[in-house]
Amino acid sequence: MNTSLLWLYFISSISSEIGCRNLSQLAELPETHQILRQTCRDYADRELAPIAAKLDKEHLYPTKQIKELGSMGVMAMEVPEELGGAGMDYLAYSLAVEEISRGCASTGVIVSVNNSLYIGPILKFGTEEQKKQWITPFTTGEKVGCFALSEPGNGSDAGAASTVARQEGDEWVLNGTKAWITNSWDASATVVFATTDKKLKHKGISAFLIPMPHPGLSLGKKEDKLGIKASSTANIILEDCRIPLGNMLGPRGAGFKIAMQTLDSGRIGIASQALGIAQASLDCAADYAHKRIAFGAPIGKLQAIQFKLADMALAIESARLLTWKASLLRDSKKPFSKEAAMGKLAASEAATFCSHQAIQILGGMGYVTDMPAERHYRDARITEIYEGTSEIQRLVIAGQLLKEYQP
Ligand SMILES: Cc1cc2nc3c(=O)[nH]c(=O)nc-3n(C[C@H](O)[C@H](O)[C@H](O)COP(=O)(O)OP(=O)(O)OC[C@H]3O[C@@H](n4cnc5c(N)ncnc54)[C@H](O)[C@@H]3O)c2cc1C
Repeated sequence: MNTSLLWLYFISSISSEIGCRNLSQLAELPETHQILRQTCRDYADRELAPIAAKLDKEHLYPTKQIKELGSMGVMAMEVPEELGGAGMDYLAYSLAVEEISRGCASTGVIVSVNNSLYIGPILKFGTEEQKKQWITPFTTGEKVGCFALSEPGNGSDAGAASTVARQEGDEWVLNGTKAWITNSWDASATVVFATTDKKLKHKGISAFLIPMPHPGLSLGKKEDKLGIKASSTANIILEDCRIPLGNMLGPRGAGFKIAMQTLDSGRIGIASQALGIAQASLDCAADYAHKRIAFGAPIGKLQAIQFKLADMALAIESARLLTWKASLLRDSKKPFSKEAAMGKLAASEAATFCSHQAIQILGGMGYVTDMPAERHYRDARITEIYEGTSEIQRLVIAGQLLKEYQP
């Protein structure tokens, strides 16, 4: 174990005592979190940024790096140490995902899905036995999990799930197709949502745990995506897929609630991924502005370029504070759905804005793969789509807001 990994283990042992529970601490992170942030930044600079273009071009899953992140505790940040995790809080998780995504946004989403979407619901709704079986092997980076909610016929309207689970003796038998599932080709298990009682609509949806591979479960083709190309995305097809009754996660009919609560937390992860992409875009653009000479001086001397850099920094800082606020509220066990939606909306729009501006600042060099700006531009776009589109985030925010203003 290298020095930085030792630091992480040191932090994990004391972070639960010190924590970062106070919103006034937003201005400056506690020392423990600063160390964690720097550790992840150093790792991303050293191990991820140099290979991100190759992973993207060749659609390569970062096997070695995910294992290293596992040994650093980053694949299971919130999982208690007795289950094999880092035992840290969500602010720490947000910082880690941002720094990793700054180096490689594909690696960022693999980490985020394993932490928030796969482990998250099991940690919250699983039995002690389920936690040991389905979480511990997924803390080390040897195995990753996925989360199968969307279907070809419904994404935003998740309550309209048509995948069914029927009970036959001591087994559940699942049939249906889940669409767009991140990590699917690399995963060793999935949380799947299926309806156990169609007439109850979304209240008839339940959550299940399925190992991968498994008889009756097959994968569709790997989607050929615009960005985050090193993470796999595919359909999960269930054809008379039989699992023991004990593989239901949470109570029967609680699936929709589990999915929505999972996505509330997941949005903090995607907001953090988007922040990493936005920050990488600014880093690249500001560096280029110093070096590129036009009309006899660095383009950074031009006010037109300075205004772009200022607007990028402003978008990033404000989205980051919103994301940290959502994390701190969650860590304090306070409601955070609205703030998580705000963080995700602001950060994903910051990522698309900043990556667009970075290309403009780089001119022709922004448009070719010699520089990372074009990859950031492609990677940024998904953050406005998955785990709830920007339109859905606005619906979540408005819904909460109107409740607060209820006469
Ligand atoms: C690369 C990638 C990875 C993904 N990973 C996963 C995963 O791991 N697990 C998983 O379950 N899903 C995953 N998804 C699915 C993703 O969450 C959905 O694509 C997303 O929720 C949008 O659903 P949709 O594509 O069906 O679009 P639709 O729901 O058909 O929406 C189409 C358009 O209509 C708008 N719209 C829909 N309803 C409303 C409304 N009520 N008000 C206003 N506008 C509305 C949307 O905002 C969007 O602009 C992934 C998708 C992609 C592309």
